[in-house]
Amino acid sequence: ASSARRRKIAILGSRSVGKSSLVKQFIENQFIDSYYPTIEVAYVKSIVYKGNEYVLEIFDTAGQDEYTPINSQHAIGIHGYVLVYSIASKISFEMIQIIHEKIIDFSGLTDIPCVIVGSKSDLESSRQVNASEVQQLAQTLKAGWIEASAKNDVNVGEGDFLVSPAAPTSHSPLPLA
Ligand code: GDP
Repeated sequence: ASSARRRKIAILGSRSVGKSSLVKQFIENQFIDSYYPTIEVAYVKSIVYKGNEYVLEIFDTAGQDEYTPINSQHAIGIHGYVLVYSIASKISFEMIQIIHEKIIDFSGLTDIPCVIVGSKSDLESSRQVNASEVQQLAQTLKAGWIEASAKNDVNVGEGDFLVSPAAPTSHSPLPLA
């Protein structure tokens, strides 16, 4: 365990896109269908990825909009970001780009390790964001991307939403490399 690598991950995105539900499903293996606005919460969980143990510190955030300033808690010492939108909300998808720009501005880095997660993938009949749009954004941001459902535990429980199989090989998808 002493060889475990620590990684701090911040979960960002619009309010009520399902950030807390993703984290809850990942950490506690449950989905609770009720909405409580999250304050800032940190969770710790160990995973094994490609044979290495990682201790993940996951910061769940309240949610951001175009007026939310990025604060140091979102940016200092963070190894990587999970940028969450809901596949049923175009506005939440557009917010991803705004949040990403804010992190770049704040950090002064040219690119940041991140995975774009389209949550609520079970809401296919209400879909407003197509895979091709996400793919394009992911390429622009050099990010990985994946769709997931906290409700049905699709791409969540095993941590797939953190490491994104669709990540470009040229760039570390998340904090885990
Ligand atoms: P947060 O504000 O981004 O942390 O969002 P929450 O996790 O609190 O979820 C907001 C609302 O979306 C709640 O009513 C959840 O039950 C619902 N929700 C979250 N994840 C899913 C999902 O995968 N599928 C569906 N259908 N609803 C979800």
